[in-house]
Amino acid sequence: MTEKQYGGATGRSSDKIKISKPSFNKAIPIAPQKKSDIKKQEQISSIEGYEDYIKAGKIASEVVKFAKSIIKKDMPLLDVAEKIEEKIIELKAKPAFPVNLSINEIAAHDTPAFNDARKAHGLLKVDVGVHINGYIADVAFSIDLENNEENKNLIKASEEALSKAIEAIRTNIPIRQIGSVIDNAIKTYGFISIHNLSGHSLAQYELHSGITIPNYDNSQEIPIQEGVYAIEPFATSGLGSVKDSKPSGIFRIENDAPVRDTFAREVLAFICEEYKTLPFCSRWLCKKFGSRALMALRRLEEAGILYQYPQLIETSGKKVSQAEHTIIISKDKVITTI
Ligand code: MN
Ligand code: MN
Repeated sequence: MTEKQYGGATGRSSDKIKISKPSFNKAIPIAPQKKSDIKKQEQISSIEGYEDYIKAGKIASEVVKFAKSIIKKDMPLLDVAEKIEEKIIELKAKPAFPVNLSINEIAAHDTPAFNDARKAHGLLKVDVGVHINGYIADVAFSIDLENNEENKNLIKASEEALSKAIEAIRTNIPIRQIGSVIDNAIKTYGFISIHNLSGHSLAQYELHSGITIPNYDNSQEIPIQEGVYAIEPFATSGLGSVKDSKPSGIFRIENDAPVRDTFAREVLAFICEEYKTLPFCSRWLCKKFGSRALMALRRLEEAGILYQYPQLIETSGKKVSQAEHTIIISKDKVITTI
């Protein structure tokens, strides 16, 4: 998934509210470490969760291969999403968020509803999240399902921007420079980079953990520190910005508040246990609780407990492509996890 900038602020809840994680962390069994294991980890990287990030990345890479092999024009989007999410589970990981399947001018944050009848077509963005113990690989690719020259060039533009950004990134480089590399790469194809969408740092159970990787030179000198980042350029033939559109059916917990309705409380308990602070969707909850889950979600959203992501569409209604990888940056090297 991506991060939208709202007039300087981001769409993240953690800008305003910090959800306490200790109770979630308690549920994660930590295997006793042998001294030799600890030493090995230090040699590889000082990044917390390093081994799990690498595992999640390998699985994400297999899932992407699988997704590319099954997606065909006119395949129901619901089948595409469910097959991809099942594959993640089959490979012994969990989805870090619902598979985003966003077509043409929809840049991001669209996932099929439980009764969705739409079919794959056009310029399709597939954005997949895989996590192991909360350590996330966030990856996306775009495919052209109408054999269209412009689609193909848009895809090349975002892919090239991504690989150039990965080549350029290292510790202490100012974030504006990465943005500039992305913007310039997309311009060489005659397209525009979407300025109000950005990459982001990742942390355990936090999809967007505070640092933004801009898709243009945003004049911020903030130096890149060691850590885990998703880089995600978006190229468009339109104006280069997105606006909020319809509710997506993708939610995350935003706040703690009392709930009177017993069933809504039951649904919330399941969400806390199963997804923690990660995004989830109404489709998943309908599977578990039936369609009455929709009413519970509405109650929880009205109570300010859940935030529902809006779909993000290109401002002028033009097509958008996306490419995304998750990388680990340590003192002296950059590791692509996918
Ligand atoms: Mn992302
Ligand atoms: Mn993503």
